[in-house]
Amino acid sequence: MRKNSAAKTEPARRGIPSVEKVLQSLPESRLPRPVILAVVRRELAKLRVANAEIPPPDTILEQINRSLAALERSRIQPVINGTGILIHTNLGRSPLGSTVVAAIQAAAANYNNLEFDLASGARGKRASYLEHNLALLCGAEAATVANNCAAALVLILRHFTSGKRKEVIISRGELIQIGGGFRIPDILAASGATLREVGTTNRTSLRDYERAINSGTALLLKVHLSNFYMGGFVEFPPTADLAALARRKKLPFVEDLGSGAVVATEQFSGVDHEPTPAEVIKQGADLVCFSGDKLLGGPQAGIIAGQAKHVNALKQEPFFRALRCDKLILSALQSVVDQYLAQPTGGTTPVLKMLETPLDDLRLRAGQLVTQLAGLPVKATVGKGKGQIGGGTLPKTELESVTLDLIPKQLPLAEFAARLRQGPLPVIGYVAGGRFKLDLRTVFPEQDNPLLTALRNAL
Ligand SMILES: *Cc1c(COP(=O)(O)O)cnc(C)c1O
Repeated sequence: MRKNSAAKTEPARRGIPSVEKVLQSLPESRLPRPVILAVVRRELAKLRVANAEIPPPDTILEQINRSLAALERSRIQPVINGTGILIHTNLGRSPLGSTVVAAIQAAAANYNNLEFDLASGARGKRASYLEHNLALLCGAEAATVANNCAAALVLILRHFTSGKRKEVIISRGELIQIGGGFRIPDILAASGATLREVGTTNRTSLRDYERAINSGTALLLKVHLSNFYMGGFVEFPPTADLAALARRKKLPFVEDLGSGAVVATEQFSGVDHEPTPAEVIKQGADLVCFSGDKLLGGPQAGIIAGQAKHVNALKQEPFFRALRCDKLILSALQSVVDQYLAQPTGGTTPVLKMLETPLDDLRLRAGQLVTQLAGLPVKATVGKGKGQIGGGTLPKTELESVTLDLIPKQLPLAEFAARLRQGPLPVIGYVAGGRFKLDLRTVFPEQDNPLLTALRNAL
């Protein structure tokens, strides 16, 4: 209230409407009233600066409405993903299946045994069931979970470089950047580790690692290239050789897998093999870390699996407490892991389901959508698309797909795309070859009707 009255006492300038007046003229909004008030005050304050040209009242109102709409659009909300990119980091990575969502719902709405031992009635271990089953899924002695894979890697690096030995040996070819802001050299520096790069961008031999090992070496690190690939004159030692070298030198060997698929990805047509945590651990890695919300198809998390002595030591780190996940994430991940154990092909995971959807199914849906758009001012056809897995996973893989191709008759393509993004249920597609395209692989079948409504509204 105090702020409200303060607004009234600000020096009036001719032509600037009062806050009260603006509030009365605004249409209904879902935004909380203090938020609307803050935006109105900010917009009016811009006009109060000396020499600002004062536009007509309608223009002022329009500008305020635009600001309010822009703010409201930035609220996290469901969108339809027509990009064909399965794990789209900008669109929240992996969507969760209904069983997982139900698990979150149950944990969220009730008390639970997060850290309570139901047998003894005393304090219990956090996430012990999940850790047990994760270890099983990864063929590891033990496993645990941090906030995300970046956090998991920082935890590991800090742990092994907290003593006198600071050096982390890594190939020059693996000093990668993933998405916005995750750069391996910076992560190492932030963890207090000293980077000891070996080899060259395209070739690193086992000898290179061996020669670099000295009394200051803390660990050997291998990082999955994730979002790019190299071809031609390329050599990197396999995990098994690095693991053997590390064992000989009594050093820990850690592999950051990034995506961490737990299924054989080569079962999907056109998809390469992605190293699984189980096979990398079998090849001798002491610890692996990977994301929960990439190819695993779960919630955001950073999974660490490997030797029990290392996992237990990591959990003892005071810093681990700052990286731990909450009950919602843990119950979601628990549900995901149990589903993989019950059904090792991952059949119920949305990301993997989308990956294996036959083109014929997509074609059928595209045809139905085209039929249902008849009579609207748009040329709609069934097209071809190339999707991707995304999320820095298997960047070489192109997923053949089916698109709904649209050329609006009364709108420029960019305007059509903007309207679709800004509707009540935003639709994200892409423009190629003079059409607006929606890749149906990443549109859930149950979204076909909401999609039609959004298209009708935009047209
Ligand atoms: C994606 C990725 C990360 C970061 O994972 P987040 O879960 O997003 O923190 C780390 N390392 C590699 C190799 C990755 O591909």
